[in-house]
Amino acid sequence: MNIYDMKEECGIFGIYGHTEAANMAYLGLYAQQHRGQEGAGICSSDGATLYLEKSLGYVSEIFNEKRLKRLPGDSAIGHNRYSTAGGNAIKNVQPIMANFSLGSLAIAHNGNLTNAQALKEGLEHDGAIFQSIADSEVIVHLIAHSRAHTAEEKIIEAVNQIQGAFSLLILKEDALIAVRDSFGVRPMCLGTIDGAYVVASETCAFDLIGAAYIRDIEPGEMVIINKSGINSLRAIRSTKRAHCAFEFIYFSRPDSHIFGGTNVHSIRKALGKQLSIESYVDADVVIPVPDSGVAATIGYANQSIIPFDFGLVRNHYIGRTFIEPKQSIRHFGVKIKLNPVQSILRGKRVVVVDDSIVRGTTSKKIVKMIREVGQAAEIHVRISSPCTISPCFYGIDTPTRGELIASSHHVDEIRKYITADSLSYLSFEGLKSVLPNPEDYCYACFNNKYPIRFAREEPAQMELFLV
Ligand code: AMP
Repeated sequence: MNIYDMKEECGIFGIYGHTEAANMAYLGLYAQQHRGQEGAGICSSDGATLYLEKSLGYVSEIFNEKRLKRLPGDSAIGHNRYSTAGGNAIKNVQPIMANFSLGSLAIAHNGNLTNAQALKEGLEHDGAIFQSIADSEVIVHLIAHSRAHTAEEKIIEAVNQIQGAFSLLILKEDALIAVRDSFGVRPMCLGTIDGAYVVASETCAFDLIGAAYIRDIEPGEMVIINKSGINSLRAIRSTKRAHCAFEFIYFSRPDSHIFGGTNVHSIRKALGKQLSIESYVDADVVIPVPDSGVAATIGYANQSIIPFDFGLVRNHYIGRTFIEPKQSIRHFGVKIKLNPVQSILRGKRVVVVDDSIVRGTTSKKIVKMIREVGQAAEIHVRISSPCTISPCFYGIDTPTRGELIASSHHVDEIRKYITADSLSYLSFEGLKSVLPNPEDYCYACFNNKYPIRFAREEPAQMELFLV
């Protein structure tokens, strides 16, 4: 949990061949609201025309029955946005729709391109006019500029020019197309419901609508779904996988199964167990920073045989705006979301488990609050991931390297800063010991080794680990 609402990444959903396509897309986005709260959109097709509705705000605020009725047809794609690149204007909300030589298409993209700027400049030089600053519009222009003969060939040509992380859904009048980058950085899965096909970032979207998971879209794979059925092509050569480890640690919903069908909650629990093996401390109670730290705390408490309790209670009903008091109230920022329970904490030696420390601000405020309001005797902070030392350029919203506290401070300095009695992070080897096929992940935020190259200048201090 971040008290400043650091934003998460995007969620996508697509469906082909269902009489209630737009309603299903709405639910698919609703289940994936955690992946982006800035804006959302749905584009549907009735076989001849594409229809688009999108706005800033939460999915449930944007769509009502009337608006969903304006999205006819039996196929649709949807997108939940947070701004990895491009500001929060409505024109940057996806899907992005465009007309090209072979008709219309709409595109919904999760991930970050690493060569978007270079490609954009090239396209502008050739006369392209951009309406948004979203990475995804670059893909639309690349498709439109392709001289290939079919839409599928144009898309293949386009996705072979982009670099970075992309799980991509494209809707044409007569087809739904899903493509995933060759590293498989962001999750993307395929399912089925009532004879129709569905594609989503996370399986929690399938659960809500009652769809069955079939398999992941493979790294480098392009799946074309149309009235003749489903067809799979190897669109991009894939030599190395680099799934985002942080999806397991923080981003994905705990009930989802990602990266080959592994349950997120069970991985988080195992991370907490490993953390306890590595950094046990004698204490009276283990409490999570809700909600992100809950699963790891269960694992930690089970392993250490210290009672688990909810020493911090979270308010789940915080709107996007609230009226700040004119007078300064102590710990206001964190109290908006979390309240310590004195009867659980008073006089106790407390272990507090969270999934990560980014700037250190949240942990500092929480420790202070547990000590002052909760009246705990000792506070031991345990983090169920290794030190976050490097920013993400593949679609996760992290601050600059300079703002990442662990990029320039040792663990004991961080402990002093957050005023904890002790602080331990999970070891890098400990993280790898918990993940299935650990060599198939991107750990750049923890080890500064970036698996995907960047166009032109590499961001400063980056060690490129090219494969
Ligand atoms: P900070 O105060 O910057 O150290 O933020 C740490 C908190 O942010 C932890 O409680 C994490 O659960 C949460 N967090 C980590 N990464 C992200 C992210 N990319 N977006 C939102 N919250 C995050």
